[in-house]
Amino acid sequence: MLRLKDNSLSSSKKSLNVLFVSSEVAPYAKTGGLADVASALPKALMHRVANIRVIMPLYRCIRKSGYSLYKIAAGVTHPLLGNLPHFDVYANHQHGIETYFIEHRKYFDRDELYGTSRGDYPDNAVRFSFFSKAVLAFLKTRDISFDIIHCHDWQTALVPFYRRFKLDNDPFYQNMRVLYTVHNLAYQGQFHRWLLGRLDIPKKFFNMHALEFYRKINFMKSGILYADAVNTVSKGYAREILTEEYGCGLHGLLKARKEYLFGITNGADYSEWDPMIDPYIKEQYSIGSHKAKEDDKRDLLESVGLPAEEGLARPVIGVIARFAWQKGIDLLVDIIDDLVALGAQVVILGKGEAKYENLLRQCSRRHPRNVALIVQFNNSLAHKIEAGADIFLMPSRYEPCGLNQMYSLKYGTIPVVRATGGLDDVIIDYDEDAEQGNGFKFYSAEGRDFLHAVKRALNRYQDKLVWQALVSRAMQEDFSWDHAAREYVSLYDRIRS
Ligand code: ADP
Repeated sequence: MLRLKDNSLSSSKKSLNVLFVSSEVAPYAKTGGLADVASALPKALMHRVANIRVIMPLYRCIRKSGYSLYKIAAGVTHPLLGNLPHFDVYANHQHGIETYFIEHRKYFDRDELYGTSRGDYPDNAVRFSFFSKAVLAFLKTRDISFDIIHCHDWQTALVPFYRRFKLDNDPFYQNMRVLYTVHNLAYQGQFHRWLLGRLDIPKKFFNMHALEFYRKINFMKSGILYADAVNTVSKGYAREILTEEYGCGLHGLLKARKEYLFGITNGADYSEWDPMIDPYIKEQYSIGSHKAKEDDKRDLLESVGLPAEEGLARPVIGVIARFAWQKGIDLLVDIIDDLVALGAQVVILGKGEAKYENLLRQCSRRHPRNVALIVQFNNSLAHKIEAGADIFLMPSRYEPCGLNQMYSLKYGTIPVVRATGGLDDVIIDYDEDAEQGNGFKFYSAEGRDFLHAVKRALNRYQDKLVWQALVSRAMQEDFSWDHAAREYVSLYDRIRS
């Protein structure tokens, strides 16, 4: 088997060649945490494995962003992969990582990644089945031998199915192993059964022991059943998803695959999220520079059109979230009048379901001087909120890992979180453990408990010395990707051996 000519992929028993397959990767295309992980983890793995590459679809936003893309393959297909249309592949190099882009205008040259505010694109199953097949076909064309194909979420979950059941007669794919990472079990990629033919899935796989899930095709089941190992993005969530409450109907299957199921807690990419080097914020700052953080607070208030009072004594509370049931937006709506009555100003950045947007809009109309709602996906404002807010809220009903609680700690913006999944793993309640506490937690998904936790935070905020000590401690925490990268390498080794 040929090795890559460009930077030649070496393959010895001790070295690993890894391909990341993801439907979104920052900075190219992002709708949530998956993009951050697919960008940061390869960087953290770069020095621990022989080679790492990333592959994703070539969306319109990437084409428009002016990245220098060079064509590396044209007219690719594979005879064993059924109805796979021909496609081209481009590449770009950034931060030492080469990323490949699968081009197919009909499927990916669109305004959004997965759908518009009116709903998901109706052909998402076909789009991502195509992407999964295209990845496998591309590898053969280029004769690139990867030891590990690391797939993420439902969009790439058919990769292990096609590798195992369509390419089983092709020796090229024999030694590849697949790791499947679940970033959010609730989004499984469920589609109508009449798509079986279009997806090239034989009818014999449409049963409860294979890809059927209550009369629908379930992409995520393919990842869980046919990958060589499965992991999720925090230890807490790996435990939770074995229960009926968090298992989204797949807890039985996950329990059956328990031996192959692992939890590796995500990290924070401090090359992107660190107030000392953040290019998006007004004043960069480090531990102890309270004045600079205050300047960022003033800048944030100005940016979102809220008045900044003399002395900036009022606490500013930040929220950045997808507007979805998962994120507990309704709990925020329940308590927002109380937060304002307690003297806080609230800045909310997000996008998502219209019903949550409407509820939040009513809040900001009721409190035009104290609640700012920005309905956008806006990376630079997200950085400004992390830097300028005093307190950050994450009242999630479930949270596979969550990244903003880690970013918030780094920016000295104290998190108040619901104790679930990765939020519970990362945050230690200050009132439960004054020595190690780095935030505030509440347990039941109810407005009353949430408000109680925020009140505890606001009380501490009034005592400047206590608060500054808490901020300094939070900023010292280290949730860098190093630890996770080491765990991934040992998991790769384990499934390869
Ligand atoms: P999710 O479940 O949405 O993936 P995570 O906490 O894992 O949640 O990651 C969310 C990521 O997306 C964070 O980097 C967060 O700052 C970012 N993000 C979410 N919504 C927005 C938005 N409206 N504008 C900018 N960034 C956003």
